Amino acid sequence: MASVPDKMKGVIMEKAGGTEVLQYKTDLPVPTPKEGQVLVKNDFIGVNFIDTYFRSGLYPAPSLPLILGREACGSIVKTGGGDTYGLQDGDKVVWMAEGAYAEYTAAPAAKTIKVPKDMDAKIGAAALLQGLTALTLIREAHHVNKGDWVLVHAAAGGTGLWLCQLLKAVGANIIGTASTQEKVDLATKAGAAHMINYSKDDVKAKVMELTKDQGCIAVFDGVGKSTFDLSMDCLARKGSMISFGNASGAVPPLTIARLSAKNARLMRPTLFGYIATREEFEKYTNELFEFIQKDKLDVRIHKTYPLSEVATAHEDLEGRRTTGKLLLDPSK
Ligand code: NDP
Repeated sequence: MASVPDKMKGVIMEKAGGTEVLQYKTDLPVPTPKEGQVLVKNDFIGVNFIDTYFRSGLYPAPSLPLILGREACGSIVKTGGGDTYGLQDGDKVVWMAEGAYAEYTAAPAAKTIKVPKDMDAKIGAAALLQGLTALTLIREAHHVNKGDWVLVHAAAGGTGLWLCQLLKAVGANIIGTASTQEKVDLATKAGAAHMINYSKDDVKAKVMELTKDQGCIAVFDGVGKSTFDLSMDCLARKGSMISFGNASGAVPPLTIARLSAKNARLMRPTLFGYIATREEFEKYTNELFEFIQKDKLDVRIHKTYPLSEVATAHEDLEGRRTTGKLLLDPSK
């Protein structure tokens, strides 16, 4: 068993607010794993937009003080007993739960899984939450079939690049949006055959032109407030409006009568609702890893920041300056 110190580096917040509430500490207590948990020494930690929602207060913190962060890769250094799904000390794993912005996390074994032998753990950490989000969205929120016309907003973002690659793999006709030419080029490379720069072009007109006035059978919208109306306009009759995030702010309340014009479906799914059981988590994670390896998907890492520079990572993500995955290195 690896020796485990008493104290660790980590980032806590005591109240919601701007990035100034993120406090980097070097003397946080190392957690003790309880039954059904494994203590993981994190090598790389994923940053996700949801971390900014909890930091800003858009989503209320479950308790304070709070260690943010929902995914990481690393090695198991201790198990807490009980059912740990065969996981053992020394296993290289990725996990998805809470309390990731730290050197060590007591993660639930049910949401921890071994990284395939021939996969770099950093790739696993960069892929997990956003990759699973994209995979479950196109399987469950709206099952996308070959030839379907789909619209993906923020197509060069972390989740957006996953959506492009996975949708391409299933043979969908992808229309993507992004705010700069660099992002347009990246998403095109990832599989979006038709890209629109939504900071200057008329998205609805282009979508209608491409789809011969039919619109898209599914719209994947993680941008939220600023794109919701546009997304509804771009939807086909009997289409699925999949609103899965709030990067630009929360979508205001709406009346369900709005759906009747197109017999539309509206969903507000979360990844955690699709991987609630161990069986679902394993099934989708294994499928994602298989996609990465067989289809040689590009797991784009925007940048790895020292954990002590987590505020810059949040500012870059919220400032639309990133493409692909942001990671934190807790050793720095
Ligand atoms: P991204 O890497 O996609 O970053 C967000 C992108 O949104 C930006 O790069 C930007 O791209 C676009 N954007 C548009 N307007 C704004 C704005 N006002 N402020 C900031 N960004 C804006 O982040 P993630 O991949 O981590 O997350 C994408 C979305 O998916 C988020 O809403 C997130 O909450 C959601 N999500 C939901 C999950 C779920 O379970 N429901 C799970 C994972 C993610 P551009 O410059 O091209 O417009």
